[in-house]
Formats: sequence, C-alpha cells, structure tokens
Amino acid sequence: MYPFVYQALSQRVVFGSGTIDQVGDELARMELTKALVLTTPQQEETGRQMVSALGNRAAGLFAGAAMHTPVEVTEEALKQVEAIGADCVVAIGGGSTTGLGKAIALRTDLPQIVIPTSYAGSEATPILGETKEGAKTTQRSMGVLPEVIIYDVDLTMSLPAKMTVTSGLNAIAHSVEGLYTKDRNPIISILAQEGIAALARALPVIHHRPDDAQARSDALYGAWACGTVLGAVGMALHHKICHVLGGSFDLPHAETHTVVLAHATAYNERAVARELAPVADIFQSESAASGLWSFARRLDAPMTLAELGMKQSDLDRAAEIMMSNPYWNPQPLAKEDLRGLLDDAFFGRAPG
Ligand code: NAD
Repeated sequence: MYPFVYQALSQRVVFGSGTIDQVGDELARMELTKALVLTTPQQEETGRQMVSALGNRAAGLFAGAAMHTPVEVTEEALKQVEAIGADCVVAIGGGSTTGLGKAIALRTDLPQIVIPTSYAGSEATPILGETKEGAKTTQRSMGVLPEVIIYDVDLTMSLPAKMTVTSGLNAIAHSVEGLYTKDRNPIISILAQEGIAALARALPVIHHRPDDAQARSDALYGAWACGTVLGAVGMALHHKICHVLGGSFDLPHAETHTVVLAHATAYNERAVARELAPVADIFQSESAASGLWSFARRLDAPMTLAELGMKQSDLDRAAEIMMSNPYWNPQPLAKEDLRGLLDDAFFGRAPG
C-alpha cells in the first residue's frame, strides 16, 4: 500500500480549436470589464488582436513579459494595471507571460484568464518563480492559480518545431518527476503517464509536420496533463537543477529541461526504477533515462549544457548552489555524483 492525500485544484479549463473566441464570454461570465492583456514583445501582435476582439472589455495591452518573471517587469506592468484600473489579466503566450499574470495576481488578487501557446504547463499550477538581482525564488500560493485556462490548439500551430520539441520535453519532465515524488497519488500518476504518452506520440509528428492538427492537439492535451501533475505534487532533483541553471546562470528554460531530463532521471532511476517503468515502456526502452535520451536525440533537441551557453568553469558553483539548500529526492544527494551528472549534461554524454 502507498498511502496518499489528493487535493484537487479548482480551475475552469476550456480545450479546443477556435476557443480564443470564447475569452469575451468568459469575461462576461465572471462580470469582468477591464482586462489587461499580457504578451511578450514577440507576441505583441497576437495581443493587439485580442484587445481588438474584446472591444470594450479590454482596457489595455502590456507586451513586456520576459523569461523567469523579473520583478522589475512586474513592477512596470503593475503601474499599467493601476493606471487603467484593470479588473483582471488575460495572459496569452508561454510560461513567461503566464508568470507575469501570476506575479500581478499575487500582488493585486486580480483574476486571470490564461491562453497558453507553449507546453510549459505553468497555467495549471499554483507556483510562481520570480527573479530578482540574479536569484530565482519559487513559491506556491493558491492566490496565483489562474481561474480559467483556454487552450486553443490553433494558437500553438505557430510554435516553431524546435521550440515545440524543447517545450514538450519541459512538459514531460513534470510528469516524470510526478511519478516518483513522495506526495504522488494514483490519479496524478495516471495523468502523468497519459501526458507523457500523448507528447511521445505527438512530438515526432510535429517535428516533421509542424502544422499537423491532430498532433498539435495531442501535444497541447499532453501539456495540460503534465502541467496538472506539476501543479498537484512536489518535484525533486530535475526541477531543482533546472531552477538553479535558469535562475543563477540565465540558461533558457525549456532547453535546459530538455538537456537535463535524461541525466536527472538516470540519477534517480537507481532508487525508483519501478515508478519509472511506465516511462521506459512508453519510449520502448530498457530504462526511462535511455528512452528519454534517445527520444530527445531523435528529435534533434539540444543535448549539451555547453550549447545553451553554460560555462564549464561554472559547473562547480552550480553544484554548490544545488547542494546548499537541502530538499527531498528519492536518491540521496551527493555532491560528487551531482557534479558528475552536470558534467555528463555539459558534454552531452549518454546518461549513466
Ligand atoms: P516563453 O514563455 O519565454 O516563450 C518563449 C518564446 O516563444 C517567447 O518569445 C514567446 O513569446 C514565444 N512563443 C510562445 N508561444 C508561441 C507560439 N505559439 N508561437 C510563436 N511564438 C511563441 O517560454 P516557455 O518555455 O513557454 O516558458 C518558460 C517560463 O515559464 C520560465 O520563466 C519558467 O520559469 C516558467 N514556467 C513556470 C512554471 C510554473 O508552474 N510556475 C511552469 C513551467 C514554466
């Protein structure tokens, strides 16, 4: 018997194609009339179209969202929230834009409608990571859980194939750790397997045909499942490593998850091979780690920390930061082993 506690999170989820047209109805349902639309600079045009589609329910656009939710950007956006008297935020984009919406909600309690266009999964979690002066801190608070998620497969068609692969592996990482985390439970374990399987099916198709509607739908469905796993249970070594590499060394989020995943999985597979057996099965491999590694390679994903801009001379410091704040992990943490893991990931050696 594995005893468990399961706490369902309260969110409304709309999934489909063309669902972006329902944002106005969702605002009306919640009696919201002054939405601040959020995007990154790269997706500003999508934000403009949303503002125009919402008519007088939109009060403005802030197109300054940035990776790892810098506090200075949040403060800029808050000035606009106040200036226009916004009563909610509508975040359209990847995890960076969702993060900005959550940071605003944390400080104002404004409701959020999130329209995810990548597979990061942040929309389904009560987690907010923020960076200030080069350090990233993460908190869990029900106050940042978005009230409504609108998944529109059409908006994901423009996610470039390369980013689709790394973003999809970022999602898979949530489910891999969700399978062995100490607060796992049967519902979430089923969802984790479902999410990994959907993305394992979809990503190779999208890699060759980025406009394949069925594969895009499978991928977004998988991302929702994996995001829900991340929101429901705790994570371990893999997420800790990526958190440090992103927050302290400014490595790109999804790509870092992509490179580290097989190595962190190999580290933990010694302790939780049984829990990870479904992953090995999905990738038809002898181990979860080798299955994930071969899958990423087959999709031409980045395989080394070096190509993401990590300096070899920073690996010792990275390992120190990772060890400095102890946290739960199924395989006990040893600095030498962790340093070896980082070395393998730096050079892109097969995980072992
Ligand atoms: P991102 O949001 O930074 O997106 C990367 C780039 O892709 C951006 O320029 C964005 O505008 C663009 N983009 C996104 N969707 C697109 C589309 N469909 N078409 C064209 N361009 C598109 O990257 P991400 O990987 O989605 O999110 C990473 C961020 O999310 C990090 O800051 C990470 O910490 C955070 N995150 C948080 C959680 C959480 O639960 N708190 C979970 C996962 C990720």
